[in-house]
Amino acid sequence: MADYVKRLLLFGPPGAGKGTQAANVAGRLGIKHVDTGSMIRENMDQGTPLGLEARSYVERGELVPNDVIIRLIDDRLNRDDVASGWLLDGFPRSLDQARALSEMGPDNSEPVERVIFLEVPEEVLVKRLSGRRICSKCKGVFNIATLPPDEKDLCPLCGGELITRPDDNPEAIRNRFRVYRESTEPIGEYYENRGLLVRVDGTGEIEEVTDRVMNACKAD
Ligand code: AMP
Repeated sequence: MADYVKRLLLFGPPGAGKGTQAANVAGRLGIKHVDTGSMIRENMDQGTPLGLEARSYVERGELVPNDVIIRLIDDRLNRDDVASGWLLDGFPRSLDQARALSEMGPDNSEPVERVIFLEVPEEVLVKRLSGRRICSKCKGVFNIATLPPDEKDLCPLCGGELITRPDDNPEAIRNRFRVYRESTEPIGEYYENRGLLVRVDGTGEIEEVTDRVMNACKAD
């Protein structure tokens, strides 16, 4: 197998396929998929103090305050199970978060080796987000466009109930795009200036995109 980078982040607009691609790529590389959105939703489901604090922000499509999320990631990246590598999905989402991350490596160094920017046109994004369903049990992610017509309510993997994410309603979707443009998009330039950014076409079949991302993760 070719040599691949082991500490990377995947970034792009809401609906670009970050979660799906991150899971595939982390699986192929044998590294941990660290997904702040899922970590927050888990805390919300369990009613932890962090979950209670995050809920109102998440449901409006706003960013959870930096101190909460930075602590969550700092703690996560210091656990033993990420020693062989990690793929961050959903963090950083602002320049402040990118700057905080840049000091989380050994001796306060930049730990990120590569940043993959998944590019997808806006009309495709809106269609993907409004058709997205998640399984309330196994947390699998599906789209009504690709589910069999008579099985749109049940998870094809575990039979759990398929639900719409609370922040996939039209108003929250609009808000998430605004937040993305204002807060998250500038990190592209930040990483480009550091020579870490690689752009990948995120349209097409899932496996096809995974192959492109894998190609972009080859070590120099
Ligand atoms: P996601 O599943 O990545 O779309 O994240 C869902 C929601 O969780 C976001 O709309 C935010 O409210 C919150 N969230 C996830 N990651 C972050 C982050 N890095 N900073 C702030 N809020 C976040």
